Amino acid sequence: MAQTIRALHLKGWSPATSTNYSFREDEGQIWVSRSGVDKSNFLSTDFITVDPKGNANGEFVGVKPSAETLIHCVIYALFPETKVILHSHGVYPIVATAKSESVIAFEGYEVQKGFAGQTTHEGRVEIPVFENTQDMIEFADTLRKNASRFDCHSFIMRKHGTYAWGTSLFEAKRHLETLDYLCQCDYMLK
Ligand SMILES: [Zn+2]
Repeated sequence: MAQTIRALHLKGWSPATSTNYSFREDEGQIWVSRSGVDKSNFLSTDFITVDPKGNANGEFVGVKPSAETLIHCVIYALFPETKVILHSHGVYPIVATAKSESVIAFEGYEVQKGFAGQTTHEGRVEIPVFENTQDMIEFADTLRKNASRFDCHSFIMRKHGTYAWGTSLFEAKRHLETLDYLCQCDYMLK
């Protein structure tokens, strides 16, 4: 996972210490990336444990988790099969949603099949777009209210970035890359 985070940094997806990542053990313990770490040097020791409300627990009590930790906790609560959540500040999804409505849709792209559950390029996939906010309690509520809209295991915060998740690191990374690629195609077309 640390290796993946460093690789995503090389793509330019986590500038200036931004973004955050998490995984959940089979026993339910959530591990989330520590705040303020330069992602080009991210190590496995930069993860801390948090409780389901996003507060550091165990040996990490007192350590400040990322400000967006609650987003991770809500996704794990909504989708119990989720094991890994990746967050990106990649440019294309941000540009694609800077002015769009509350959803961004793709149709006819082969790579749509990168989203688990999509078996053909012929369908239409929709990714929810939410307003960026610093109020994580309110945003957690927004996620709960929109729980039925996450067919593509991802969403975009306007002018902020992408969250994507999966039942494994492999799957979460595939979802994140799929969405970024589709946004990039759309951008090139326009
Ligand atoms: Zn962010």
